[in-house]
Amino acid sequence: MDSKRRILIVGGGTAGWLAAAYLARSLGLPDNKHVEITLLESAEIGIIGVGEGTFPTIRNTLKFLGIEEARFIRETSATFKQGIRFTDWARTPDGDDHHHFFHPFEAPFYAEGAELVPYWLLQDELTRPPFAEAMTIQNRVAEAKRAPKRPDESDFSGPLNYAYHFDAASLARVLAGRAAELGVRHIEDLLEGVETDGERGIARVLTREHGPLEADLYVDCTGFRAELIGRALGEPLKSIRSILFTNRALTCKIPYASTATPLESYTIATAHEAGWTWDIGLRGARGIGCVYSSDHLSDDRAAEILRAYVGAAADDLPFRRIAFDPGYRERQWVGNCVAVGLAGGFLEPLESTGVVLIEAAITMIAELFPHSGPIDAPARRFNQLIAARYDNIINFLKLHYCLSQRDEPFWRDNRDEASIPERLRELLEQWRYRPPGRFDFILDLESFAFFNYQYILYGMGFRTDLSPGRGDFPNVRAADRIFARIRSFGERATQDLPSHRALIDQINEEP
Ligand code: FAD
Repeated sequence: MDSKRRILIVGGGTAGWLAAAYLARSLGLPDNKHVEITLLESAEIGIIGVGEGTFPTIRNTLKFLGIEEARFIRETSATFKQGIRFTDWARTPDGDDHHHFFHPFEAPFYAEGAELVPYWLLQDELTRPPFAEAMTIQNRVAEAKRAPKRPDESDFSGPLNYAYHFDAASLARVLAGRAAELGVRHIEDLLEGVETDGERGIARVLTREHGPLEADLYVDCTGFRAELIGRALGEPLKSIRSILFTNRALTCKIPYASTATPLESYTIATAHEAGWTWDIGLRGARGIGCVYSSDHLSDDRAAEILRAYVGAAADDLPFRRIAFDPGYRERQWVGNCVAVGLAGGFLEPLESTGVVLIEAAITMIAELFPHSGPIDAPARRFNQLIAARYDNIINFLKLHYCLSQRDEPFWRDNRDEASIPERLRELLEQWRYRPPGRFDFILDLESFAFFNYQYILYGMGFRTDLSPGRGDFPNVRAADRIFARIRSFGERATQDLPSHRALIDQINEEP
């Protein structure tokens, strides 16, 4: 009897190639002859090719895959990302509309014996520094256009937490190269049909040139087309548009005026009348995209907003329009088919969670993988965990919108109670009296920690009133000393760390 497990991944975008390389690596290929992985993709259809922002989890993933950091940076036009700067989302305490705040990747400085957050909350609102600036040195480092690491630091590590901005199409190529080294078989062909087999799920997929292909597990990475999980198996997409309203993006790439232009090491997310605009500095160009709700903004008005944002460089520049349906499939593993990436769902890119969700799915598939026995054994658990993760990210994204005091209809609608999930409403009520803490969340179901919530809440001007219990926080002087230390470390770090542009250029000049 042939006891081999055959995995067929359909789709060769970030999801397909990441799944291929990750599963090959975790299941011990190419030495493990018990498992065979094939990836089918069609150049005719191509990949979505957007998704330039990531989250620090990508470093562990790339390291696990055995990809060298400098090579990855060179081949994907990558730059370092230390967080997101939100512009025009909220007002400063004195009412300035052009407020900005930083969501750094670095956790707030943690001091034994003096939890700093309450002491920041108890300071005078009008004179205290912004939350992220008070709590970490990363804000200062990023604003000074410094890199999060030095050139001599080992791969994927540095004094500050970081992720990358990169060119999505190049990433798929790097991953494809690594997957090939790990023994993944590659078929370029068009999937033209899928035969199903009741409870089992997929019987076989039909390709134009390679005929029928059969496997034990089918991984649907066909993007928004969702050929297997959606079209063939009919699993519905649960729309979350009543919570997160954006459903379109207009994108473009703008070359730099000069090769010496300083590089930002954060994504800039600028709010506009019915959504926001991303601005991402890759090595050779800026990737810019206007995200909006088609119920609140016409495509023409979105183009005007994007043109106004980009300025003269946008003259005659073609924009690409991408429509999306925000939501996810509640069952992403059905029978012998599991969806990864856009085929499973998509939440707008405000916190760059596309790749994060792919990483979560492939880690679970690898760890829950049934080496023998029924292939769908992990399905229930997988579906519970992935749906909870989507729901939690939805709450985190909604937080950015529902706290804003902007006055346009899109923003007013976002504050409508009915659009705010109950769990988030409940937490917001509690956080009026205490800051978010680790017991608010179950770690394995979360992509964001309590401090990510703190950065957004206090960046947006949310008030947690600790003043009636001020006496519970007597270590004011000790806390002030730590705040001063964070400030001086930050100033020193802006001197010690190389400029972001210089480090990226140096990495690219190496052989
Ligand atoms: P795709 O890239 O669409 O790949 C689908 C694959 O399936 C292709 O290879 C295609 O050829 C193949 N295929 C489809 N049908 C067939 C067929 N019939 N036969 C053979 N092959 C087929 N994520 C982030 O992490 N950060 C971001 O900043 C970010 N920004 C985004 C902005 C926008 C506007 C959008 C829409 C998405 C963004 N994402 C972001 C999400 C990110 O783009 C995706 O998660 C990621 O690219 C994975 O896509 P995918 O591989 O699932 O799909």
